[in-house]
Amino acid sequence: MLRDTLSYPRVILRRGKERRLLEGHPWVFSGAVGQHPDGVERGGIVDVVDFAGNFVARGYYNPESSIPVRVLSQDDSETIDVGFIRKRIERALQLRKAWIDQKTTNAYRVVHGESDGLPGLIVDRYADFLVIQCHTLGIEVLRDTIVEILNELMSPTGIWERSDVGTRRVEGLTNFPTGLVSGEEPPDLIEISENRALFGIDVRRGQKTGFFLDQRENRAALQGFSRDREVLNCFCYTGGFSVYAVRGKAKRVVSVDESQPALDLVVHNLEMNRFDPQAHPCIAANVFDYLKHCKAEKQYFDAIVVDPPAFVKTQRAIPQATRAYISLNRKAIELLRPGGILVTASCSTQIDYESFFTIVKHAATAAGKTVQIVRSHLQSVDQPVPVSFPEGRYLKCLFGIVS
Ligand code: SAH
Repeated sequence: MLRDTLSYPRVILRRGKERRLLEGHPWVFSGAVGQHPDGVERGGIVDVVDFAGNFVARGYYNPESSIPVRVLSQDDSETIDVGFIRKRIERALQLRKAWIDQKTTNAYRVVHGESDGLPGLIVDRYADFLVIQCHTLGIEVLRDTIVEILNELMSPTGIWERSDVGTRRVEGLTNFPTGLVSGEEPPDLIEISENRALFGIDVRRGQKTGFFLDQRENRAALQGFSRDREVLNCFCYTGGFSVYAVRGKAKRVVSVDESQPALDLVVHNLEMNRFDPQAHPCIAANVFDYLKHCKAEKQYFDAIVVDPPAFVKTQRAIPQATRAYISLNRKAIELLRPGGILVTASCSTQIDYESFFTIVKHAATAAGKTVQIVRSHLQSVDQPVPVSFPEGRYLKCLFGIVS
């Protein structure tokens, strides 16, 4: 599949459709294609040329996708071969080594798809294991090469695949492979350290690849705000924010999620860090109901974390999702004592930073409170966003003081 000649088949763009690509955007949408090449294998490498035939980019091809080409390189002297992929992964690793303290943190995203010049590929490190996720056909074709390079560069004990992602359907893929791809089977729970906080990661059944690595910096920020406070962690999953709050000497941390297996791991994770789970209740409930219950019982908190799953996946659903975000944030704001801190996140790509800010404004107004934002974050450093690829921004997290 990888070839070492530079005579790649050509995808010819419609007139003027090269502009965003020349700025570094990594996607060719089907509407931009004037002429498809003949006889290219699905997932094969193609050149993208403008209407006049000038080279624009080189990438992998899938005519069945609404994004028929994803760009791998903008350098026409660069061959897409083993050396190319190795260089890309090395560059990604260098960024993580420069920005993440390897002595205190051994769980992070090694490759973040388009952001690292390898569209459709996710590689997460959990201590001595790696988890890969292939979102596209083009990356699937390169998978064995990628696994070989990861073994060569990182010598993991094992590499596990979690390609059970819906986005593969859009690529015309009908299989969702999961399981061991190389080395040893990971244990039921891989023990990782994140800023010296310990967590057990279930890469087989966990959400995403097992952990929400994108919230690392926000969890660490919460630790600094937690001393002597009563904290409510809504949509807690395996207790990421809860463990940091207890580390920050919170008086009491209540963790709420609708998933019992996730809550079992909160208890496990508290114990791993030598905290007493009896002192920090875990509650299996729908967050919306639980917040109503607290209001009825006049149960207030000094800090509330609200980190729900994405409420919106399509443009059309934005108004409804916006209302749901406002209602949720309003309920949380109403439960905060004066001077309390709202930590609110949205991982819906369709809701941009400004819209999320406005959502919190509407929630504050509806609750009759003022909110001062003291911190705002995108996803952590291991999920960087190229300025030419604004679609790569998805997580927003605001810390606001409520009074
Ligand atoms: N903050 C977490 C990640 C949250 S993921 C961390 O840092 O690790 C979102 C979580 O919300 C999932 O665990 C899911 O089970 C839970 N969830 C989704 N809808 C819910 C609802 N209505 N009520 C309670 N939990 C919900």
